[in-house]
Amino acid sequence: MQRTTPQPHRCDAVKATTPYAENVVLLQHLESELARTLRGEVRFDAGSKALYASDASNYRQVPLGVVVPRDVGDLTRALEICNEYAVPFLTRGGGTSQNGQCVNVAVVADVSKCVNRIVWIDPNARTAIVEPGVVCDTLRDAGEKYGLTFGPDPATHSLCTLGGMIGNNSYGAHSVMAGKTADNVAALQIATYDGARFWVGPTQEDRLERIIEKGGRKGEIYRQLRDLRDRYSDAIRREFPQMRRRVSGFNLDQLLPENGFNVARAGWHRRHLRGDAASEGAPCG
Ligand SMILES: Cc1cc2nc3c(=O)[nH]c(=O)nc-3n(C[C@H](O)[C@H](O)[C@H](O)COP(=O)(O)OP(=O)(O)OC[C@H]3O[C@@H](n4cnc5c(N)ncnc54)[C@H](O)[C@@H]3O)c2cc1C
Repeated sequence: MQRTTPQPHRCDAVKATTPYAENVVLLQHLESELARTLRGEVRFDAGSKALYASDASNYRQVPLGVVVPRDVGDLTRALEICNEYAVPFLTRGGGTSQNGQCVNVAVVADVSKCVNRIVWIDPNARTAIVEPGVVCDTLRDAGEKYGLTFGPDPATHSLCTLGGMIGNNSYGAHSVMAGKTADNVAALQIATYDGARFWVGPTQEDRLERIIEKGGRKGEIYRQLRDLRDRYSDAIRREFPQMRRRVSGFNLDQLLPENGFNVARAGWHRRHLRGDAASEGAPCG
């Protein structure tokens, strides 16, 4: 057998204390692994990084690299690899955020190009299942044939994606009628940085206890959220402002038992089509 030059293992690279952007060896290994594993695009060239260094805000952060996943599987594989290399990961939709939400020294995953299927629309339940890169207007157009629309419509509705709207809890002129994006999320499939992937949505208290008892990452996250809720529930009930446009911070009120411990609405997402006459909070599917 021939002796080969030892290749630094990814863990050795991770141990380096150099800042991510200057850690050339780490980034080269990361890029090769992403390129070897993903079906979609892996773009670590200077031009691509420059393209993704800005959003609609004044902030500028050059990403470590860009991936354009081909599908949901590709997206979660990219996340797993970034976790193995301990580098930050940031998902991006239409990039129309105005406060720098989708620029960072991270691997930026652009889901708008390919992870953008409307999986299913149930006109009776007025519910749609969508991938995160679906543009708001695409969903609205698809709903029109059933006499449905998606109420929250930021001014960027022709560009912004459902994933980004959930991330920002976006609103718009018609959200006065239909509620903010979070009010229209029925359930979400989430992927955590450390590799867990599960659905979240409204959860009755007895089911919540069963999930916590069962353990695993979901049980651990739900236990911590329940403990947080229980510790601060009086203050949340007393002090959370009852405003229709409250979009800052986390929606901890959604974890209260009277709101169904709804993790899907407690800080992010959505997937619900709203009928034109509906005016209060969306039903959960
Ligand atoms: C001219 C202009 C007008 C605007 N008007 C409005 C308005 O009327 N109302 C309003 O609410 N906002 C408005 N905005 C802000 C912005 O357009 C909206 O919040 C929009 O919904 C963001 O969608 P996006 O797809 O561009 O999200 P992005 O900017 O791409 O992302 C937003 C956030 O969501 C996260 N994210 C995206 N996809 C995922 C995913 N798959 N998983 C996890 N996180 C994800 C991103 O990391 C980021 O933190 C406006 C912006 C501009 C430039």
